[in-house]
Amino acid sequence: MDAGVKRELEAKVAAGERLSREDGIALYESDDLVWLGRLAHRVRTDKNGDRVMFNVNRHLNLTNVCSASCAYCSFQRKPGEKDAYTMRIHEAVAKAKEMEDEQLTELHIVNGLHPTLPWKYYPKVLRELKGALPGVNLKAFTATEIQWFEKISGLPADEILDELIDAGLESLTGGGAEIFDWEVRQHIVDHATHWEDWSRIHRLAHSKGLRTPSTMLYGHIEEPRHRVDHVLRLRELQDETGGFTVFIPLRYQHDFVDSADGKIRNRLQARTKMASPAESLKTFAVSRLLFDNVPHVKCFWVMHGLSVAQLSLNFGVDDLDGSVVEYKITHDADSYGTPNTMHREDLLNLIWDAGFQPVERNTRYEIVREYDKPTPLADRRAEPQQVWA
Ligand code: SF4
Repeated sequence: MDAGVKRELEAKVAAGERLSREDGIALYESDDLVWLGRLAHRVRTDKNGDRVMFNVNRHLNLTNVCSASCAYCSFQRKPGEKDAYTMRIHEAVAKAKEMEDEQLTELHIVNGLHPTLPWKYYPKVLRELKGALPGVNLKAFTATEIQWFEKISGLPADEILDELIDAGLESLTGGGAEIFDWEVRQHIVDHATHWEDWSRIHRLAHSKGLRTPSTMLYGHIEEPRHRVDHVLRLRELQDETGGFTVFIPLRYQHDFVDSADGKIRNRLQARTKMASPAESLKTFAVSRLLFDNVPHVKCFWVMHGLSVAQLSLNFGVDDLDGSVVEYKITHDADSYGTPNTMHREDLLNLIWDAGFQPVERNTRYEIVREYDKPTPLADRRAEPQQVWA
């Protein structure tokens, strides 16, 4: 990148000026990772100090049966397939109860678009889960699922959200966003929820007092300009509602065939490679710089590995997705040896080891507990250090 452009961007960031579409594209053109990290870290530190937020949650996928066949998805199964499953309500509750000893504060629930499950199943599950775990926040359903509920119930999203909130819903999840630009979206998404409906449903959720996460699936067939466009759409919606708590860049994953039938379901992988760690760090940094009105940027460590998750904390990230005991959607497509379990202690050590202060939060980003500051690196050198995969 031209030194003059670099200086201009530095000056804009230092002055807290909003970056433009062209600025975002220019940032992606830079391969000076250290420079990008420094710019993003400055913004992250101004907003969040040296804190790293996390929560102790459980991911629950009620069914992997789905009417759609998105090109990047390794999770969905068709009815009758060998490893298709749908949980009965008491099974979902039993699974959630297994985590009680972990003092979890959140259940994160996303599912396939099941062709025959009735709409009433969903509020019923939430009500039962809330009854069994009253202290746990329920973060459930993508905007895609909410639109699916509109289709199967004949009710508008307004009434659907009211009923789900009454049953215990505290936040939607951020999924279904992928890449909003139709140029890319038409090749990867097979369901009916695109920007117009995704934004309509999150806007509605925000108007009802819910705060929601936002996501972007990157590292497949999209180009940097599509990532920039994606973030700018979200930034504009955030200007309007202020309802997004966090932005989560999700790294597209190849399918490494660990399903019972040995089928590769992911139709994108012949056409693309996964993003490298350097590309991921760049994406975190540029996202932090562009999405200036979102309070937090999260790294979902399951998709990146623990070392990249630690590094990301110097590239704009201030939030790590929590203590995950089971996460199916990614782990149906991961053979990198990333662990699929992390507990509170592991996560605390990961954050301290990276030189940051862990802060436990709930779904609404309210502080549950502040932990000690990290021991300075100079003092830790004499001690044997943990090696993170
Ligand atoms: S991404 Fe979601 S909607 Fe698309 S096929 Fe997978 S489970 Fe179904």
